[in-house]
Amino acid sequence: MNKDKNQKNKKNKLIAIAMLLLVVILGLLVLLVNNKKSNEEDDKTLAYTELINEITNENVEKIEMTVGSTSLKVKMKGVDEEKKAIVPNTEAFIELVQAKVAEGKDIELIQNPRGFLEQAGSTFISLLPTLIMVALFIMLFKMQGLGEKGKIYDDTERRTKVKFDDVAGLDEEKEELIEIVDFLKRPERFVKMGAKIPRGVLLYGKPGTGKTLIAKAIAGEADVPFISMSGSEFIEMFAGLGASRVRKLFDKARKLSPCIVFIDEIDAIGSRRTSNSGAETENNQTLNQLLVEMDGFSSEETIIVLAATNRPEMLDKALLRPGRFDRQITIPTPDLNGRLDILKIHSKEKRLSNDVNLESVAEDTAGFTGAELANILNEAAIIATKKKHEEIENEDIEEAVKKVVVGIEKHSRVLSEHDKKLTAYHEAGHAVVSQYLPTQTPVKEVSIIPRGVTGGYTLYKSNEDKYYISKTEMKEKLIVLLGGRAGEKIAINDISTGASNDIEVATQIARDMVTKYGMTDSLGPIDLKGKEDYELQLFGETIGDKVGEEVKNLIDEAYVNAQQLLIQHRDKLDAIAQTLLEKEKINESEFNQIFNS
Ligand code: ADP
Ligand code: MG
Ligand code: ZN
Repeated sequence: MNKDKNQKNKKNKLIAIAMLLLVVILGLLVLLVNNKKSNEEDDKTLAYTELINEITNENVEKIEMTVGSTSLKVKMKGVDEEKKAIVPNTEAFIELVQAKVAEGKDIELIQNPRGFLEQAGSTFISLLPTLIMVALFIMLFKMQGLGEKGKIYDDTERRTKVKFDDVAGLDEEKEELIEIVDFLKRPERFVKMGAKIPRGVLLYGKPGTGKTLIAKAIAGEADVPFISMSGSEFIEMFAGLGASRVRKLFDKARKLSPCIVFIDEIDAIGSRRTSNSGAETENNQTLNQLLVEMDGFSSEETIIVLAATNRPEMLDKALLRPGRFDRQITIPTPDLNGRLDILKIHSKEKRLSNDVNLESVAEDTAGFTGAELANILNEAAIIATKKKHEEIENEDIEEAVKKVVVGIEKHSRVLSEHDKKLTAYHEAGHAVVSQYLPTQTPVKEVSIIPRGVTGGYTLYKSNEDKYYISKTEMKEKLIVLLGGRAGEKIAINDISTGASNDIEVATQIARDMVTKYGMTDSLGPIDLKGKEDYELQLFGETIGDKVGEEVKNLIDEAYVNAQQLLIQHRDKLDAIAQTLLEKEKINESEFNQIFNS
């Protein structure tokens, strides 16, 4: 693998150098030729003022120009040889000539469509710096391997070996997708029956839930090529390149049919078309090309387009029309059984000690995606190796879970004694508050040992999987999140940046409560999530203000509640914080001991 990559890198560098040389030589050549030409042709060139004079004096018979170019060919009356002229502004010049024609002067104005060759001369020179830049950019892309991302996987060596068995959980989704596998394998049966097969399937789901994996599995099961590309590649592309990339992608697909085309992060090109400004126009071109390609499929072409996104609300509605992505499948985060299956699959090639209980790991990781679970097992293997364990032990896995969970919170790093005290009261604040809220899960561990970018953390026992979360539970979650800041405020009468992640999460939850779950009385059960201002106005002039007001109310209320709880239980807050300052870390049983004393 590595050797392969090295060779590829070398090859890329060679290509880059060759391209650079080519561009430089070409540039020099054009310069030379043009220089010579312009010396010879000096007397054949008309200055602009001369040209205007000649036109006014009716000496000009015909003017030929290329659209968009400032150089013209001028044929004078009674002279065979054509002269050249450069105009400062083509549009102004055309208007001027048309005015003369309207005055009754006899001039023929020919506008040729833009052609590369006609322009090759002077335009090429002026474009040269740009061309060199473009070439350099392309080289950079290639050398960084960015070009590789969009690489089209070839049918022969690049067939994916992923099968449905490699995708854990998602049984219902697989069932729904198996029909596509059948279609790819034997399209004629479906055609004969007159059955309509979806052309495009949209996979919705959080990052890491296995969308790419399941798309590959479909290709693997049907044993057809998997051609993929990611929407985010288009974002920084040069004008017009996006659309042509899409065209090439589908040209390739038609050659390799039957096959799967996979477009990852389709929201990057398929965002709702709103205005016509710069980057968006470019996006629109790309999106339009995609729509054109999908609409143009003929019935003999067995191509299924799969696309993935984690922001379905962003998508342009045109993508969802019949014949396009008319089937949508939600890929959920795995439930308990799903997590266990994923853990089993990813521990197959790892050496697990007998004391590892994957069931309990699955129980502890509610809300985790497949990618996070795979990551935990991999981290565990690394930790076990570092600790020189013979096998991956339970403590290695617990450590890995912590690493993945805590990686999410971002408190600032503890430095001074003062910071340490702040952190202790911050974490104690979270922990103590949660202890008094019935819907919240018990504390598992509290720590003020910095971890990565984190100053401290409080871990809770995992929730069992739930389909619904109540309003009470969400409100109490807000109180726990603000408990950190409340702890700092009450004990030290100061607040820190350590709460920034808590505040971010709390605000998101509060906003969801208001706009997505309709949990406030003043707004009621109306879906307001992600709506543009003009859409909000449908519900009343001031609805946008009301949303903000309600979010603020929820947060304020939670902050007040957190402070009240901590004032009421100040002894517990102090006890936990003091213990943290002494021991830096408190586990579940130590925590309960302090609490019950
Ligand atoms: P997405 O495309 O939804 O962001 P991926 O398909 O790229 O997620 O998943 C990343 C990795 O996570 C996969 O390569 C696989 O190792 C693991 N993974 C995710 N979901 C599953 C699953 N359901 N079963 C097994 N592995 C999974
Ligand atoms: Mg993916
Ligand atoms: Zn916090």
